[in-house]
Amino acid sequence: MLINYIEPVFRPPSEWKSLILQVTNGCSWNQCSFCDMYTQPQKAFRAQKFDKVEQDILAVARSGAPVSRIFLADGDAMSLPFARLEAICELINTHLPQVTRISSYCLPRNLNNKTPEQLARLRERGLSLLYIGCESGDDLVLDKIQKGETFESSLAALLKLRAAGMKSSVMILNGLGGIELSHQHAINSAKLMNAAQPDYLSTLVVTLPLGTERMDAVFGGKFQLPDQQGLFQEMHTLLSHLELEQTIFRSDHASNYLVLKGVLGKDKAKLLAQVELAINTPLSIPLRQEWQRGL
Ligand code: SF4
Repeated sequence: MLINYIEPVFRPPSEWKSLILQVTNGCSWNQCSFCDMYTQPQKAFRAQKFDKVEQDILAVARSGAPVSRIFLADGDAMSLPFARLEAICELINTHLPQVTRISSYCLPRNLNNKTPEQLARLRERGLSLLYIGCESGDDLVLDKIQKGETFESSLAALLKLRAAGMKSSVMILNGLGGIELSHQHAINSAKLMNAAQPDYLSTLVVTLPLGTERMDAVFGGKFQLPDQQGLFQEMHTLLSHLELEQTIFRSDHASNYLVLKGVLGKDKAKLLAQVELAINTPLSIPLRQEWQRGL
């Protein structure tokens, strides 16, 4: 292996062909009550040493591996200061000039200490796509799950990225408000997306492989994930309130029962019709079985 990683390493599904460059370890926030990704001791947050990042880039360059895309890991590499990010992008530009896209996860708060001019400079150096796990546009849901962000902070970050010429890919978590907040979660998530007009939007179903204990605590009792029909109803509410102009929409992660793909707004009616089939005649449409969800 060219690079030694601190495992586990996560990346967006669409980065499956990319070189993963671990410029940080873990997540600088690490408090979201639904997230168990970086809870193991070796994943405590820290910036990777610059020398190590440089060695990794040089090792890949020497290997001649056909790398055209790089994903900066882990959970929010954009927490690094501007100067460090710029230096990493410049190393990539110098030693891997064939790379056409650099991307990273990004928390809205990661942008607070970066000016629009700095973001534009990172864009010029190839950092062109940021994955923002907004999770919800509803402030009550965001508060309960301890995201540390709001509708307004999420929107401000998405607009700042757009102004810098960067593309944004947003994740919304179906079911995150439980049964209780399902409707407002969908409505306010749609409002956030309508205001931000992201380039990509994907929806995943919230999954809690290590149990519901933390979600139970923040929801003040038992967290009640909507059942399959409830998830479809929530998706229907979200889709019907989305007013997007040119957003690539994907709901095809392994967690989803119903696979949906299209461009919003042109495919809105088609996607809504598929969700309506899943609600009204579920036997007439292919749905993932529990064992197929690969969780
Ligand atoms: S910000 Fe992302 S990686 Fe960090 S705890 Fe929240 S969901 Fe997990």
